[in-house]
Amino acid sequence: MTAEEIEILTRRLTPRPQSINFRDGAEFLLKDGCPVTVEVTVKTGIRQKLTALCKQYWNIAPELTVKESAAAKKCKPEAYQIDISAEQLNITAKNWQGVANAFKTLRQLAEAIRGTEKVTGYILVPCRIKDYPAMPFRGLHICIFPETPLWDVEKQIRLAAYYKYNYAVIECWGNFPFESHPEICWGDRKLDKKELKRLIKLGKELGITLIPQFNLLGHAAGARSITAKHAILDYQPELQPLFEPEGWTWCLTNPATRQLLTDIVLELYEFFEKPPFFHIGCDEAHDAGSCFECRKHELKDLIREHILYFHDLFKKRKTRLIMWHDMLLEMEDERWQGYIACAAKKHHLSTLYKELPKDIIIADWQYFYDFKNRETPAWPTAKFFKKEKFDVLTCPWKDSPVIESLGNMAEKEKLMGMLETTWHISHTRDSLNTILCAAHASWNPAISQKEYYTEIIFIVFSMHIRHIIWDMKIREYEKTGTAQYQVDPGHHPHQVS
Ligand SMILES: [Zn+2]
Repeated sequence: MTAEEIEILTRRLTPRPQSINFRDGAEFLLKDGCPVTVEVTVKTGIRQKLTALCKQYWNIAPELTVKESAAAKKCKPEAYQIDISAEQLNITAKNWQGVANAFKTLRQLAEAIRGTEKVTGYILVPCRIKDYPAMPFRGLHICIFPETPLWDVEKQIRLAAYYKYNYAVIECWGNFPFESHPEICWGDRKLDKKELKRLIKLGKELGITLIPQFNLLGHAAGARSITAKHAILDYQPELQPLFEPEGWTWCLTNPATRQLLTDIVLELYEFFEKPPFFHIGCDEAHDAGSCFECRKHELKDLIREHILYFHDLFKKRKTRLIMWHDMLLEMEDERWQGYIACAAKKHHLSTLYKELPKDIIIADWQYFYDFKNRETPAWPTAKFFKKEKFDVLTCPWKDSPVIESLGNMAEKEKLMGMLETTWHISHTRDSLNTILCAAHASWNPAISQKEYYTEIIFIVFSMHIRHIIWDMKIREYEKTGTAQYQVDPGHHPHQVS
């Protein structure tokens, strides 16, 4: 096989497998009755799922052999091996998760047979692929704004699962209609809970666990600060005592706030079907402790007691908290210059981390460095929390050099993983720069963007998006591609119906 052929085939694979060896020889034909062997540790239920997957991906019914083997037992969770010859397609994996990962790779590798107008089957070139993730937690942070239709969220979840992410943090922005507290939601912008429930179950089927987020400190407005909107206070001024006077942070000394937040997080916990993690936010709480009652206390004591209370609430339920890192580091501290740190020196929060349980996962969001003029940074904040015995998720945003650099650091430091953020930009080129780049960086950070981010990356991405469109059986122009419209797509192109 020529170097060019190898390049053509390899560039289709997102994330790039750890090892691929293409071989010369006749292709394997993916058609009805083709021989496919799958080796796993426990074969119960595998045949049924595989039959459905082959129908969905290629509309074929292969001759399936599913067996239990010693080789499968040696595989790590999520890992898989693919062996393709002209005669046989063989997959080895510990469990269904590994098998499903192998089939995602095969879907990207397969080509429709030529020579006819309509598809008659697919070909796979002879090769051996050995693959496994570099880090155990590969998450995508997805925002559901009042402007976001849930079909758009479904596309993001499906694409993340296709790119082998195993977690998605779901942050609803003031639009989750709580049964316990209907007042904590825009009166005229409520998301469809039945539809969100369907997505939680869909995530389970696709191998991606949805993790709820509710901000328990700052960002209590449930809306982007730059818009000056407030999901609760704009319509209900009577609820002011729940918040600090500016409305941005919850009032930590008010027992009514504590009770309300308890009801809300437990309702979300049940709605998300007892998830293993719960994200409590806690970033950018610039007005924390500013009301006349909170001012009588040390802010550190208020925040510590607040977090410990919710930590214990979830620990009883065997759920671990995830929190943003920035209020635990002082912005004036020399060590963090050039990096994100949001605690003000006057608030004395720099030693708060010492009083927090070590099973809280620190989500270290670092979005920027001057990658045109600067060497790769040291990323000291993630290393700091790791040294202090916390599990750390590194959290990039939209700049692919930053994503790549953080992926390399996370692998080298053996961090728990990556949580890629998207915020208000999850369309057009931004969706590629976030979802695709972080898929490479969290699964196989050794692959540099110089290798995959070539002039052809957009059409590779388009092909993968199309697979999602086919899975969803989309028939509406606005729902295709990565943006509602081709002309002036904007950040928030969606019409609210
Ligand atoms: Zn207060």
